[in-house]
Amino acid sequence: MTQFKKTFLNKKLVSISFASTILFTSLIGFNLPNIERLGPNIASAATATYTATDNLNIRTGPSTTNKIITTVKKGTQLKVTGKTSNGWLKVSIKGRTGYVSSKYVKITNSSSTTVKKPENKSNVAATTYTATDNLNIRTGPSTTNKIITTVKKGTQLKVTGKTSNGWLKVSIKGQTGYVSSQYVKTSNSSSDTIHVVTKPESISALVNKKNKLPENYVPKDLVYTSIPFIFKEKTEKRKMRREASTAIGKLFADAKKQGVSLLGVSAYRSHATQVVLFNSYVKRDGYKKALTYSALPGTSEHETGLAIDVTGGNGKCAAQDCFGGTKEAKWLKSHAANYGFIIRYPKGKESITGYQYEPWHLRYVGKSIAKTIMSKGITLEEYYSSKYVAK
Ligand SMILES: [Zn+2]
Repeated sequence: MTQFKKTFLNKKLVSISFASTILFTSLIGFNLPNIERLGPNIASAATATYTATDNLNIRTGPSTTNKIITTVKKGTQLKVTGKTSNGWLKVSIKGRTGYVSSKYVKITNSSSTTVKKPENKSNVAATTYTATDNLNIRTGPSTTNKIITTVKKGTQLKVTGKTSNGWLKVSIKGQTGYVSSQYVKTSNSSSDTIHVVTKPESISALVNKKNKLPENYVPKDLVYTSIPFIFKEKTEKRKMRREASTAIGKLFADAKKQGVSLLGVSAYRSHATQVVLFNSYVKRDGYKKALTYSALPGTSEHETGLAIDVTGGNGKCAAQDCFGGTKEAKWLKSHAANYGFIIRYPKGKESITGYQYEPWHLRYVGKSIAKTIMSKGITLEEYYSSKYVAK
């Protein structure tokens, strides 16, 4: 190993392991091995294909000042094992590690459709039953039967059958009960029913587990935000769409004037990055478990360039539950809407948003919608669901 490379790698290990710990923590809420150790997993799990778009030099380090190991021909498929903070790709070639400029590499098949689904699950349309009002669960299929318990509006029910008079048989706390189907809404939660967002460039686009961005969508007006982050590198994670970037700059500046110091944790995340991340989780934990803590590529709001994870000025509690009680979190809850941001995944709305409470995840939707959502204590899903939007 050359002296330069050693120095570079040492530096890189420190910065990447810090940044990746934060990134991973933000996704799953507990620590994962750093990206260096995940490298080989990413390589074998990623379904993206990397192809040289020109004759391409593979170098000993991530800059054109490094020595050329070998040159591959245009059209060669590369085995990419990682990415450096300056955007070069780490590749494995003839048993060695090399670096190539990502400028001359085309990524294909990196869409969510290439994420492997478990064979036996992919075509099963699972129906979800949700109480549309506070709902009595009874010992038999009529209102003359005793009430076992009452579930709150929004509760998902485990329906096991249907009676001839149209009541639903449900399983609750190990018991069998009956509910009137009048107050139960059915929805299809199968992955096959995910809708593709028709106007992904809309500032108020709804992106969630059931509404995904079109294949390979890249926002056109991404810019580097001016705000400080918990890391120093100039990476895509600092980027947001122009309007959101201006707004987050104002929000941070005004917060500071009021004695509230904030730091960015992670803003834009490209589709390709999300694919590599998600596939590495699938490889490690299986598809089903990965879905509980990581967004399926195309369904992460971070891919819109309109979302940002933030934390307090001391950098502690970055993307962790403990951020919830801080003065910074409280300030955001009462002021974010003035800048066009909402707390996207509020407490108590998990069944609607599909996400755990994330006091650190801000989504830009513009001032008008943000004020409606925050003042009414609703979510973006609820905003679109009915009465709040003129149809
Ligand atoms: Zn987030």
